[in-house]
Amino acid sequence: MNDFTAAFLLALALAAGVRLWLARRHVHHIMQHRQSVPREFADEISLAAHQKAADYSSTRTRFGVLHSMVDWAMLLVLTFGGLLQWLDSVARGWFDSPLLQGTALIALFTLVTSAVDLPLSYYRTFSIESRFGFNKMTRAMWAGDLIKQSVLAAALGLPLILVVLWLMQAMGALWWLYVWLVWIAFSVLVLAVYPAFIAPLFNKFSPMQEGSLKSRIEQLLAKCGFRSSGLFVMDGSRRSSHGNAYFTGFGKTKRIVFFDTLIARLNESEIEAVLAHELGHFKLNHVIRRMAWTFVVSLAFLALLGWVKDEAWFYQGLGVSYPASDAMALVLFMLVVPVFTFLLNPLAASYSRKHEFEADAYAARYSSARELVSALVKLYKDNASTLTPDPVHSAFYDSHPPARIRIERLQTLGPGNLRETPT
Ligand SMILES: [Zn+2]
Repeated sequence: MNDFTAAFLLALALAAGVRLWLARRHVHHIMQHRQSVPREFADEISLAAHQKAADYSSTRTRFGVLHSMVDWAMLLVLTFGGLLQWLDSVARGWFDSPLLQGTALIALFTLVTSAVDLPLSYYRTFSIESRFGFNKMTRAMWAGDLIKQSVLAAALGLPLILVVLWLMQAMGALWWLYVWLVWIAFSVLVLAVYPAFIAPLFNKFSPMQEGSLKSRIEQLLAKCGFRSSGLFVMDGSRRSSHGNAYFTGFGKTKRIVFFDTLIARLNESEIEAVLAHELGHFKLNHVIRRMAWTFVVSLAFLALLGWVKDEAWFYQGLGVSYPASDAMALVLFMLVVPVFTFLLNPLAASYSRKHEFEADAYAARYSSARELVSALVKLYKDNASTLTPDPVHSAFYDSHPPARIRIERLQTLGPGNLRETPT
């Protein structure tokens, strides 16, 4: 126990306090507005749908608080409770090689934290999502997904951990630079193989059928100067009735994927507008900039880890004895960094919301603001997203602007369809 202990506990108390305060405000605000549909949405959204959204949002917020509490408790048990130290001694008993001991520690740590998460995930799917009519998964499917995810995590994660631990011990003072390079290569590799090899393990992807929707989308792609290696429809309805559309892969393997639920719900002009918004993220370089940011931030954190790794106060301050292994440094670092960065959440969220506004403006220019509004209202309704979030909660967490503000902004952009040529 030292000054770092005090700093860590203070940061944890602060993060927990802010998290609870925001959740309380959010639920309170939603409940206060539960009795009537906001005027702007009164034509499209019934009182029953609005109340379902209020109940769903507040249930999810309360569940989020429960989840955080479990995480905080685990954090304390792992560090000051001595659980990590004990897992470390188990791992040391299994192997002689420090590399394998370290890999075993990280694997054990992952197993223990996942085991604690499991009942929460089960409850979310089969209690909350089912109660509001979103879950379409059977228990067998849920278990099957879990097994597949675990095998995949082991197949990708174990080699990565081995390489990282080896670099940490073999590369001297600048090991973190090498780890960073490996991390970038790994991320790019996963992105490249995801559409063709990983995603199909969980869902079926069928090429979009020829017809008016497809030709309409191809026209939009041509207008925006966007090339992709295919339009696909994914059987998202197998698991959930939440709808979505996304891009996946990059370069030649770039695909556009529509959830079947989205296609079933929206009409063709609405789908086109949603796609134009997603294209906006690509064309305005949001995707690439976000990735660049992630890489810069991970370099900064790795450099920071490079420094604290050899400091006794870092381990002793978290209740772990020093000297400790590289793997212990990694695990402790991953555990405590989110506590110290929690209050930076609003910065990342507002950066993301800025991009959403820009992508909306792009969609208004190349497709139609009016159709995008109509699509968004349907999606808010279908996903039971609250139309009345607490403004402070929203500013702190939300990657997307609140419904009302987003739609107001779109309406000032006019009906769209300026039919201009892309530059
Ligand atoms: Zn977006």
